[in-house]
Amino acid sequence: MRTVRSKAELRESLAPARREGRRIGLVPTMGSFHEGHLSLIRRARESCEVVVVSLFVNPTQFGEGEDLEAYPRDEVGDAELAEAEGVDLLWMPGTDELYPDGFATAVEVDERLTGVLDGDPERRGPSHFRGVTTVVAKLFNCVQPDVAFFGQKDGQQAVVIRRMVADLDFPVAIEVLPTVREEGGLALSSRNAYLGEAERERAKALSRALAAAAEAAGAGERSAAAIVARATEELRNAGIDPEYVEARDAEDLSPVAELNGRPVMIAVAARVGGARLIDNVIVN
Ligand code: AMP
Repeated sequence: MRTVRSKAELRESLAPARREGRRIGLVPTMGSFHEGHLSLIRRARESCEVVVVSLFVNPTQFGEGEDLEAYPRDEVGDAELAEAEGVDLLWMPGTDELYPDGFATAVEVDERLTGVLDGDPERRGPSHFRGVTTVVAKLFNCVQPDVAFFGQKDGQQAVVIRRMVADLDFPVAIEVLPTVREEGGLALSSRNAYLGEAERERAKALSRALAAAAEAAGAGERSAAAIVARATEELRNAGIDPEYVEARDAEDLSPVAELNGRPVMIAVAARVGGARLIDNVIVN
């Protein structure tokens, strides 16, 4: 595995593969790898000839008062894990490399997608997704992958990125892989590092809530409000007051009142101790 930091080294490392027309896969990450990241890397490894992993804690997707400084970082451990998974190229740009002085451009997806759920102005706000789409557009332009891999764990992010890629004609295929969970259901997340023992136990209620929602839908409940209420009840029983529990169309994130056979995303966000956690499940 080669580790590079600059865009110039990245381009130079990828030049032969590009000349030879080899299939390049990109896994964008903010590091602090867990099995969720590794599942994306493994999928990239089995389906691509060249696997690039980017590791960049992107400041522009963190809002004021969010956890940018505290965000868990472990470059050495991550490099070992990436190497063990057979990654070809680990790209760890510094902030100045991606946002040099004078940087003044953003890629923005419409607020119908980026101003709801996590992007609601009362929550992280649309600027979070502006940060995500801008950096992902840059990563795509720098690496020029044939395919890029994302996790369903960040379901809204996956929808927003698919939209950006379609609308701006990025020549990249997007693959979204299932959420990897601990035994007990908790979705793996770098932010789980903020959870103490008791909080980790309490955090399992998020996945229980989504399982209850999926079960209700599976049993024939068509009312989105009833399904959301079922999930909310599960959270409240664990003493969790969610930021939101919502049912939205899984493709365009429009609000859903009745399940009608189209895929619906039940999405939840809640603060548990020092961690703000998100999770989702697709039902129809
Ligand atoms: P992050 O480093 O948290 O920005 O995540 C990098 C990529 O890994 C994103 O596409 C996430 O959606 C994905 N990811 C994070 N957690 C999980 C998980 N538990 N299961 C599957 N993918 C995940």
